[in-house]
Amino acid sequence: MNDSYLNFVNSPLGARVARSLHLPKPEVLRRYRADAPEFDGIVAVGAGPSPQLLDALAGVIARIGMTSVAHAGASAWMPLANRHGLMTGRFEPAQLAGHAAGSQASVRALVFDASGIADSAQLDTVYAFFHDALRSLDKCGRIVVLGRPPEACASPRQWTAQRALEGVTRSLGKEARRGIASNLVYVAEGSKSSAESSTTSSVEHHNDSGIESTLRFFLSPRSAYVSGQVVRIGTAPSAPGEDFDWTQPLAGQRAVVTGAARGIGAAIANVLAAQGAHVTGIDVPAATDALDATMRQISGTALPFDIAAPETPAQIAAALDELGADVFVHNAGITKDKTIAKMAEPAWRDVIDINLSAQERIDDALLEAGTLRDGGRIVCVSSIGGIAGNLGQTNYAASKAGVIGRVQSMAPHLAKRRITINAVAPGFIETQMTAKMPLAIREAGRRMNSMSQGGQPVDVAQTIAWLAHPGSAGITGQVVRVCGQSLIGA
Ligand code: NAD
Repeated sequence: MNDSYLNFVNSPLGARVARSLHLPKPEVLRRYRADAPEFDGIVAVGAGPSPQLLDALAGVIARIGMTSVAHAGASAWMPLANRHGLMTGRFEPAQLAGHAAGSQASVRALVFDASGIADSAQLDTVYAFFHDALRSLDKCGRIVVLGRPPEACASPRQWTAQRALEGVTRSLGKEARRGIASNLVYVAEGSKSSAESSTTSSVEHHNDSGIESTLRFFLSPRSAYVSGQVVRIGTAPSAPGEDFDWTQPLAGQRAVVTGAARGIGAAIANVLAAQGAHVTGIDVPAATDALDATMRQISGTALPFDIAAPETPAQIAAALDELGADVFVHNAGITKDKTIAKMAEPAWRDVIDINLSAQERIDDALLEAGTLRDGGRIVCVSSIGGIAGNLGQTNYAASKAGVIGRVQSMAPHLAKRRITINAVAPGFIETQMTAKMPLAIREAGRRMNSMSQGGQPVDVAQTIAWLAHPGSAGITGQVVRVCGQSLIGA
């Protein structure tokens, strides 16, 4: 759907009107485009005492071809390599010393390694970095704070200080505006990685092997509408090797997407296919034409099945044959809104059945038959309605909260087979579903977030692709909102 307000205030005339009337001016978000560089510009890096993730971070920044500079206090910057005595020569010498805090530098991201912060007094270092650096961050820039999962911390003080990072990160998203996204990544301590430890010297290397797919996602325009999120990366059973092709991470994989005929499902199918997967799309028989058209564009396979029909789980398993699937995305969903007093029973039952129970039946069948391969990925589409609840949506919110319960409860069981299961919870996304909303509610949904605009289906799709990534093996049982840091349910 078209956001006419966003288009207007970003036109020359509209920008003048917005300025003179002090109207909010949502930024046109910088999204991933295949014909533009995904990573460019400068990553300004800061760290608290005893940082443990700088090495892994520096490696990723170097591999994606961005320039890194380290905060040296009092608005001074130097190449990250020199500051930590590591990996000299692996970085372009930064042109930036002295001028990152000025106006001309194209600082695309601020990343702070808070992993060593063990006491609340040490949070001063977080203040010093962002106080100096925030104004130099470009519009549509990224803020990433790296910490250690509080619940795994050795002492109450460390737990407390690590937990405090959530408050800083979420507030930075609200303060920064200008299309800037701010997220917190808690990285569990892992074992050593052979790839990392073979490259450099005497410094202790913590593997943190699951960090790369996540850092790439949060530093990329692919994460344009993901802000205010806290992601936990556990110890990954495996990480992509040195010869891994990061441009086609799903090459050779088979992915299934339900509700793929249109909207968010069609976007998911497109993004997974662009990353190398063969996609099988499922949608109701009534949507066969649209499903066929979507699948034709990506050389995918169309299965015209109603996911709620009793025979469907077995039919999906049969259609996927002995090759099975590596990625299953449960996207299909419906709404039948009414306050509970006015809601007819079929409206309750259909929404719970299609949005929740059908997912359970399909997963049970595919897991039992071994159709979903070991090491695979399940990604379910929830909603911020499932987090916050919503007037007139008791059925929908129950189904979407149930989806969250499903990923949390299934994750430990699936870990034995190295299968991850996660949920994305979209906020207001511009689709036919939201186009049906009354105007006032639609406008409120669009503006009540740090980006002051709705997201696009591709924003949800890119987030799902990150969770489906072979490098995201350490992320499971989690819910990531794709909501531009919506105030609803925050
Ligand atoms: P949409 O209505 O545009 O598309 C949903 C697709 O699912 C349709 O193609 C539909 O035919 C298909 N579908 C419905 N019932 C089915 C069934 N029984 N079997 C097979 N396919 C079925 O909706 P959308 O906006 O693209 O939403 C996709 C998902 O995202 C849904 O789960 C929805 O609840 C969730 N979501 C959307 C938003 C938003 O703002 N659009 C926000 C939060 C969550």
